[in-house]
Amino acid sequence: MVFEEIHGFFEGHGDDAYFGEKVSQKEHALQCAQLAVNEGASDALVVAALVHDIGHLLHDEGEDAADRGIDTKHEDDGYAYLKSRFPQEVCEPVRLHVEAKRYLCAVEPEYMSQLSEASQLSLRLQGGVMSPEEVERFRANPYAQDAVRLRHWDDAAKIHGLEVLGLEAYADRIEKCALV
Ligand code: FE
Repeated sequence: MVFEEIHGFFEGHGDDAYFGEKVSQKEHALQCAQLAVNEGASDALVVAALVHDIGHLLHDEGEDAADRGIDTKHEDDGYAYLKSRFPQEVCEPVRLHVEAKRYLCAVEPEYMSQLSEASQLSLRLQGGVMSPEEVERFRANPYAQDAVRLRHWDDAAKIHGLEVLGLEAYADRIEKCALV
């Protein structure tokens, strides 16, 4: 079952710190999914919100990860894992969630100043603000708006000690969306 597998990744690395923030990886993922639920997002987008950073939790995938072409871009690691298990409605917003930050910095002047310090720092490493050409290309992706919604939840899912639904609450959604 895909849920069991995902549960295992959270068991392994869910308590890791979410870089530069006051929440763990698991708290961050659960808060992000909760925000998606609260907004009435589709099951696929709720699952995407839950697993958007799964690329950070896959480090036990094997020591030959680098040999298999998995680099440190966590959105690509996540996508590579998800694409054989979920439809594009789940995978594409995950793949695009970092690009969505670069996009929002380009089109919403207020957005960048609201980012946390850690997120502003990583922005530079992720390629900085999108150019007008990159903005056009991003907008052309049919999942761009889902990725932008996911990005807003991602940015807000950093509240220390917030009570949210547990991972088990997403088991049915995960199995319903899963391809396998
Ligand atoms: Fe995140």
